[in-house]
Amino acid sequence: MIDLLKLLFPPKCMLCGSILGTEQEICAACREKVLLNTAPPRVEKGAFFDKAAAGLWYENDVRKAIHGLKYREKQSYARPLARVMAYACERKLEEPVDLITFVPTNAATLRKRGYNQAELLARELVSMLDVPCLPTLEKCRDTKPMHGLRPEERRANVLGAYRLCCPAEAVAGKRVLIADDILTTGSTLSECARMLKTAGAERVLCVCAAAARKS
Ligand SMILES: [Zn+2]
Repeated sequence: MIDLLKLLFPPKCMLCGSILGTEQEICAACREKVLLNTAPPRVEKGAFFDKAAAGLWYENDVRKAIHGLKYREKQSYARPLARVMAYACERKLEEPVDLITFVPTNAATLRKRGYNQAELLARELVSMLDVPCLPTLEKCRDTKPMHGLRPEERRANVLGAYRLCCPAEAVAGKRVLIADDILTTGSTLSECARMLKTAGAERVLCVCAAAARKS
């Protein structure tokens, strides 16, 4: 049944739409293009996180792929996007972690969308990095969309918007990796990192599928 479905609807490259070979997650041409030739910067030390990295630049086909995952129910894009995140962890963060977690979304969005794309990415990373995933944070108040806000407005928008939803012992002394879809100014990740550090996390690293270029 699965094979018949694959025959009728062969998996396509999330970036260019070409039909993929078995076991392929991104086509060879895109793999070459995005993994080898573009390099979003690694961000050293945010206000509360220790390092952040992204796999791709948030533009063109990558932007479309992330929109697909986020707004068009393309959950199947989580795996190839997580692959580039795993690659960013190995090549850019270059540090072992004990635990993977993710930026939470609010309950209304979760009900509407049916899933949290950051959680899908985090769960795909489990087998790639061989590290367990644990939901550690929840949103405790609504925030405005970040799009169009200035950096200081972004910080204010997320301040106090997250709280720990696991026992502090689960993160205390641990090296935690936060997964998210897009790295913009890092204010959401920084606020999440602040809560994890408050709970005693030793290191907080962040990995995103893509990074927005500074405008
Ligand atoms: Zn492709």
